[in-house]
Amino acid sequence: MEKHIALIRGDGIGPEIMTQAVAVLDAVAERFGHHFIYQDAPMGGSAIDAFGVPLPESSLETCLASDSVLLSAIGGPKWDTIDPALRPEKGLLALRAGMGLYANLRPASLIPQLREASPLRSDIVDKGIDFMVVRELIGGAYFGEHRTWTEDGQMAASDLMAYRESEIRRIVRVGFETAMKRRGRLCSVDKANVLDSSKLWRKIVNEMAPEYPEVEVRHMYVDNCAMQIVRDPSQFDVIVTENLFGDILSDEASQITGSIGMIPSSSLGEGSRGLYEPIHGSAPDIAGQDIANPIGMILAAAMMLRYSLDMPSEADAVEQAVSAVLERGLRTGDISEPGCTAVGCAAMGQAIAAAVAKTR
Ligand code: NAD
Repeated sequence: MEKHIALIRGDGIGPEIMTQAVAVLDAVAERFGHHFIYQDAPMGGSAIDAFGVPLPESSLETCLASDSVLLSAIGGPKWDTIDPALRPEKGLLALRAGMGLYANLRPASLIPQLREASPLRSDIVDKGIDFMVVRELIGGAYFGEHRTWTEDGQMAASDLMAYRESEIRRIVRVGFETAMKRRGRLCSVDKANVLDSSKLWRKIVNEMAPEYPEVEVRHMYVDNCAMQIVRDPSQFDVIVTENLFGDILSDEASQITGSIGMIPSSSLGEGSRGLYEPIHGSAPDIAGQDIANPIGMILAAAMMLRYSLDMPSEADAVEQAVSAVLERGLRTGDISEPGCTAVGCAAMGQAIAAAVAKTR
């Protein structure tokens, strides 16, 4: 099969880890007889430097014309002090909006070989960690009206958290559909005791529940959910929630499974095209040193193969290759363990690419 993939190489460690993901995709193409055509779509700090804007129109067009988009990470101290309207993350928000990506799916599952990396007690980890956070991505407080003003001689600010019924309905549907493909349990997270937007959210979840009789639904307040994720994560299968709550809970969920460098995420809208990225940032503190962990980026490429390119066997091959390499004891610095072999970013990527070639 021939597929067009847009690459956003990003800033900081972005280009290093993207090189390794492309090497693994090339190994997949070779092993399975596909042809992947890559096209660069500059975005973030590097786009600001080259074009003066964080998301050039041509990059959005490249992404919209592709079968899917791979993104490493963007941003860094170099662009922290520029005009807020031009900052790197504005490019990401504009890309999500431009591609109509309203659903972010982030798995929180413990890789058995990295059990020791979880900060939770072993009796909690032993019960298993395997859930998915489905987060609304283009609504709520991040996209509502932001205002700062002066009142009675002091500054004041507000951010509007607004949701329309249709925005809630489409993300809750993703939550139900994801639960149908997993263990059939959906936990809807809100703050319906104080927020009107949450009351509407809860009403819609309850209205939709009869459409999915196979799915067991429950509601949880966001503060309780934050607590339950560290107290007993085994109780969760799929969590569906709005943008701000999901941002915080998905970061918390990623931490209990170990390194931030291991976890992929996908953002989806209508149709099969998606945006796939690791959950971490551009890690400027370790950029250019060949010590970044490329596995989150490589697993994002595996998610892309599965969810956007309809290549489940190819995705399995990448995930098995990652497991095989970890089983052999190869570790980047962030996941190092006594008795294991320390490798850099490039060596880790090359080992995974070589292991893809050997998968059956
Ligand atoms: P970060 O995720 O970049 O780094 C946090 C810590 O984790 C650092 O110590 C870093 O070295 C480490 N780390 C991250 N990824 C790693 C990897 N693959 N291997 C090994 N260690 C890794 O978060 P931050 O420091 O808060 O942000 C740095 C920059 O990234 C900021 O400019 C921020 O705005 C940006 N950012 C971008 C995205 C994105 O592109 N989606 C997401 C978050 C942050």
